Amino acid sequence: MTKYKLEYIWLDGYTPTTNLRGKTQIKEFAEFPTLEQLPLWGFDGSSTQQAEGHSSDCVLKPVAVYPDPARTNGALVMCEVMMPDGVTPHSTNKRATILDDEDAWFGFEQEYFFYKDGRPLGFPESGYPAPQGPYYTGVGYKNVGDIARQLVEEHLDLCLEAGINHEGINAEVAKGQWEFQIFGKGSKKAADQIWMARYLLLRLCEKYGIDIEFHCKPLGDTDWNGSGMHCNFSTKYLREVGGKEYFEALMAAFDKNLMDHIAVYGPDNDKRLTGKHETAPWNKFSYGVADRGASIRVPHSFVRNGYKGYLEDRRPNSQGDPYQIASQVLKTISEVPTGAEKKAAA
Ligand code: ADP
Ligand code: MN
Ligand code: MN
Ligand code: MN
Repeated sequence: MTKYKLEYIWLDGYTPTTNLRGKTQIKEFAEFPTLEQLPLWGFDGSSTQQAEGHSSDCVLKPVAVYPDPARTNGALVMCEVMMPDGVTPHSTNKRATILDDEDAWFGFEQEYFFYKDGRPLGFPESGYPAPQGPYYTGVGYKNVGDIARQLVEEHLDLCLEAGINHEGINAEVAKGQWEFQIFGKGSKKAADQIWMARYLLLRLCEKYGIDIEFHCKPLGDTDWNGSGMHCNFSTKYLREVGGKEYFEALMAAFDKNLMDHIAVYGPDNDKRLTGKHETAPWNKFSYGVADRGASIRVPHSFVRNGYKGYLEDRRPNSQGDPYQIASQVLKTISEVPTGAEKKAAA
């Protein structure tokens, strides 16, 4: 038997932005534990804004497990927060009730800033560095400094070793700003991995005295880009059938549900979706082929393939909850009848 360090990780009850929390328990297993082998556990909800009434005990229910590459015999255990009965989802547990479909594929592009001493990594103590331009996908000390790339690479290796499905990384438009992309089949599968990758990034940076700023517009109304978490999505129908008529009906549904989407696309998004810096205004839906100034960007390949493939919703922001984002995308898609459904109804 081996003693495993199980890091139970969950989302707290803070609003408008939930935080990651984690604590360790040691358990013996013959080999790396499966999800089914991991027991329920508890925590004090009064310290995480999750206590309900007089009872402060909340229950942690493991829902995904990954090897923890930073620890000997470590496991990262993603959990849902449950009521003391262990079966009723806590009101802060969004994951329990989202729409899911393993044939719906999601690719999230998580942008973020490294922060040190209250400012983006590489910014001078007062004022600003040279304006944006050379930083995006840049190389060289004057563009990316001497430590950021090391953090990004270490984070990438940790994630890959944990089995998280990274698809890429790049330096972003603002100095100190970076991005990673994660692809997953199903909303829970993709979103669990985003949360776990965020956790690993935050934890890694502790030892460097560096924080991650996930706010979508940390530098306010300046000429510095904000951070998004573009949501690329495709359903089986979009990939295999699609068509112009279906696509246009889908876009009409996205337009109609504008406010439902914005409600879960992350806090303060009006400060980021201004119409500047490759964004569309938050309160007006638009779409366009290869248009980075639209709410939804339609890749060239999508049109070339007869309106089949994936679409990119550019509005979700860096602080958004991927569970709720993916679920809202699926909800709007579910309102649009496919060709077969229309035929059956006729
Ligand atoms: P850009 O920065 O040009 O918007 P990225 O390469 O950063 O593009 O991100 C593209 C994303 O699209 C990746 O996360 C990838 O996983 C995702 N993606 C590619 N094909 C599909 C698909 N069929 N369904 C859903 N997402 C997809
Ligand atoms: Mn990208
Ligand atoms: Mn980007
Ligand atoms: Mn993008």
